[in-house]
Amino acid sequence: MSQANIGVVGLAVMGSNLARNLASREGNTVAIFNRSYEKTQTLLDEHPEAEFVPASTYEEFAASLSKPRTAIIMVQAGKGTDAVIDALTEVFEPGDIIVDGGNALFTDTIRREKAVRETGINFVGAGISGGEEGALNGPSIMPGGSDESWVTLGPILKSIAAVAEGEPCVTHVGHDGAGHFVKMIHNGIEYADMQLIAEAYDLIRRGTGKSPAEISEIFAEWNKGELESYLIEITAEVLKQVDADTGKPLVDVILDQAGSKGTGVWTVQTALDLGIPVSGIAEAVFARSLSSKPAQRDAAAALPGPDENAFRAQDEDAFIEGVRLALYASKVIAYSQGFDAIVAGAEQYGWDIKKGEIAKIWRGGCIIRARFLNRITEAYAENPGLVALVTAPFFVDVMEKAQVAWRKVVADAAYAGIPAPAFSSSLAYYDGLRADRLPAALVQGQRDFFGAHTYKRVDKKGTFHTLWSGDR
Ligand code: NAP
Repeated sequence: MSQANIGVVGLAVMGSNLARNLASREGNTVAIFNRSYEKTQTLLDEHPEAEFVPASTYEEFAASLSKPRTAIIMVQAGKGTDAVIDALTEVFEPGDIIVDGGNALFTDTIRREKAVRETGINFVGAGISGGEEGALNGPSIMPGGSDESWVTLGPILKSIAAVAEGEPCVTHVGHDGAGHFVKMIHNGIEYADMQLIAEAYDLIRRGTGKSPAEISEIFAEWNKGELESYLIEITAEVLKQVDADTGKPLVDVILDQAGSKGTGVWTVQTALDLGIPVSGIAEAVFARSLSSKPAQRDAAAALPGPDENAFRAQDEDAFIEGVRLALYASKVIAYSQGFDAIVAGAEQYGWDIKKGEIAKIWRGGCIIRARFLNRITEAYAENPGLVALVTAPFFVDVMEKAQVAWRKVVADAAYAGIPAPAFSSSLAYYDGLRADRLPAALVQGQRDFFGAHTYKRVDKKGTFHTLWSGDR
């Protein structure tokens, strides 16, 4: 049997595209396996040029791989992944490498890595971003796992990753679950970015009356400047799409109830556990939840709000530029919060994560690829101990330039009754962060009043409790 240097288990859309990507790179021979053989046969039939080495059993799959055997699992996250890991650990040997490229929860990856390590086999949880197109042409890859596995795996992953400014979009993120943790945060930032863009569109549409096609042109223009990113680019494409059946803008016939696969929820749940305010991401998740409650929305449709004509941008160009600045500032906040969560996760789980490297590998292949990621890399290069990304000089400048417009846009949105939860929560977070004094002092007083939770003072050391008049 011919020997393959890499194998893929799971040949649905992601796995088959990743297998084709691997096979297209010099020096790779790719073994393929799928639980039901039909998908294997289809891939063989459709892509003879890939010269795949097919297997119909796990034993055959293991026998077709050269040592150390290396296999990437791309199956349904959860039970499917556990089933394949169990099967592979039966047929693999110590020193071999099992990579889970699916969207696993990082705590599952920590658990799996520990269990697989006991067999002497290496287990790597690798976040892979970029959807099916990325899997085929070059994704951004966020692998965790041991240093030993990176020696074999690194060159293979570098060969298939997207390339940004001459560098492959992959780095060894850290041990055990670090890769899936960073992928989870990536997805959380993606949620925030998408919500912010959606709010910008809504504000412009309702604030100026412009059509989706006109707004598409605005986004296409924005994509030539500092906001240049994949999400802005595809937004322009989505907005100019016309529905073939009705002739209406497609965005107007798409049901306004946003779905999700759960990684945004994981990000927020994890951030809550770590005590990190990822308010932009949380608002994005909640906005999707709110959109998907038709019964509540119907019941609330007649609730009082401002006069429909209460708001109309007087100077349209100035308003649109204000929205652009507010979008950029809010986006910086979302990334800053995401990196705070990465720092906290690294501390909690003992990972040595290089923040600048993460921004670098997100420059290509992934959904949040954007021009300004270079500025994040630079910020961490200049100051690796940066305590909040937003305080780096480049981003201070962004905040400075956006100040007036950002506040006005949030105020206009409130006045007009246009929901802009991610814009306004980002601004509130920013103001909270820079505040000299926070009303948290009052909260501490309240806590001490009803629960004798004690408080600290600004002028002396120690812990204090007041005998409030309400004390009995
Ligand atoms: P999927 O629909 O999530 O999963 C289908 C694949 O899983 C099939 O090959 C199926 O085999 C296999 N499978 C399910 N249960 C199994 C079990 N118990 N034992 C063995 N195989 C099992 O496929 P996908 O959309 O290609 O995604 C693969 C992974 O990539 C997922 O973890 C997903 O979250 C992640 N991901 C997806 C995207 C995306 O854009 N789709 C992006 C990034 C990451 P059968 O054919 O035999 O049913």
